[in-house]
Amino acid sequence: MANISGAIRHVKKGEDILRQGESGEYAYIIDSGRVEILIENNNGEIERIEEGPGSLFGEVALLARTKRAATVKAVEDCTLITVTPDDFIRRIEAADPILRMVTKNLISYCRNKLELEDDHSAPYDDVRAKMKNKTLSGHTQELVSSIKMEHALNKAIEQNELQLYYQPIINLESFNTCGFEALMRWKHPTDGMIPPNVFIPVAEDTGLIVKLSEWALREATAALERIQAMPNAPENLYCSVNFSSHDLSKPSFLDELVEAVNNTKLHPRQIKIEITERLLILQPEVAAKTLKACKDAGFSIAIDDFGTGYSSLSYLQDFPIDTLKIDRAFVQKMATDKTSEELIRTIIQLGKTLNMDIIAEGAEEAHEVEKLKELNCDMVQGYYFAKPMPEDELASCFKNWKTE
Ligand code: C2E
Ligand code: CA
Ligand code: CA
Repeated sequence: MANISGAIRHVKKGEDILRQGESGEYAYIIDSGRVEILIENNNGEIERIEEGPGSLFGEVALLARTKRAATVKAVEDCTLITVTPDDFIRRIEAADPILRMVTKNLISYCRNKLELEDDHSAPYDDVRAKMKNKTLSGHTQELVSSIKMEHALNKAIEQNELQLYYQPIINLESFNTCGFEALMRWKHPTDGMIPPNVFIPVAEDTGLIVKLSEWALREATAALERIQAMPNAPENLYCSVNFSSHDLSKPSFLDELVEAVNNTKLHPRQIKIEITERLLILQPEVAAKTLKACKDAGFSIAIDDFGTGYSSLSYLQDFPIDTLKIDRAFVQKMATDKTSEELIRTIIQLGKTLNMDIIAEGAEEAHEVEKLKELNCDMVQGYYFAKPMPEDELASCFKNWKTE
């Protein structure tokens, strides 16, 4: 008997497919042929239903290992496709949060009803326990919060609850601020400040990230024009904006970048598209095509969290990369772990060879900055210099950081 979904069962005309009272393991989809379903009603009479291609029967077996309530016979030669409980549950787990939630509740409602009607005879008890463990429970809280968050995030844009903070990036040669990274903040009216590590993953899961990125791009470009006009602002400041792979696979991605920049006096090179190494290698072909078009239009491209994606280095040739951002994890371990220091040294040399510049993320201590300078790192972004801050505090960053 089949134990995987999609397995085919051929049945000859007149044969029984399943019998009332036996234990059911699979549901069936009729691919070809016809069956008759014989089911006893409340008055003890047998009712007959005929079903053909595309129909499903025996689906109660997907919910609980109860006895079959009907007998099903082939009235023609039949081809049947089996559906197993494991596969059924796996597919629900992969569905979107609302679908999972609703299905899960309906299943537990049906199971409760089936258990009340079931005769609780010993041979079924262990099976019933197993089925229960296979349920979808345990994720309820997560599902609810992700559904609620998706709703709330949708509203947050309209109600101006989102804000961009900007973290300065310092050039290690001049010790001047050369750019910023735009980092999203969500000021929730009742829950306070929600960090991006909480809401960005939900936005990525649900595709809502596309809306957030569109907003961030418009906002960051308009802000950079204002920041650039501040007294003492160095020439040619840039602003890094974070994007996800959903954004890059959108056909209008480049048009939106161009439009955002055309609304200002900025040059496209002043907008740096940041994409993590992990997301980049998820859809390499689409990403390579989009990034090439962006590069041709003059935009600058940075690979974020470099060194954490566990990919082959050969991909670096496939993308038009201007900047590598060394992940904070390496910088933090640099002082205590020789391997991290060597990795940073290697990434910097690799970047130089490929004509890319290097930003090290997450430097918090003076000795880290000194070491990074010694290793010839071009730029640093880290709490040692400044944390992300609202636009109106940025004027304090237009100074020489060395003469502090
Ligand atoms: P990321 O892109 O790697 O951004 C850098 C993160 O490191 C920021 O966290 C920044 O505040 C933090 N950081 C910088 N220097 C230091 C340091 O010296 N020490 C420590 N401990 N942290 C430092 P933040 O703002 O909480 O953002 C977290 C992540 O959320 C970002 O990581 C990025 O993946 C995501 N994110 C933030 N804003 C956006 C956005 O607008 N769009 C997208 N797609 N993702 C975003
Ligand atoms: Ca980033
Ligand atoms: Ca990063």
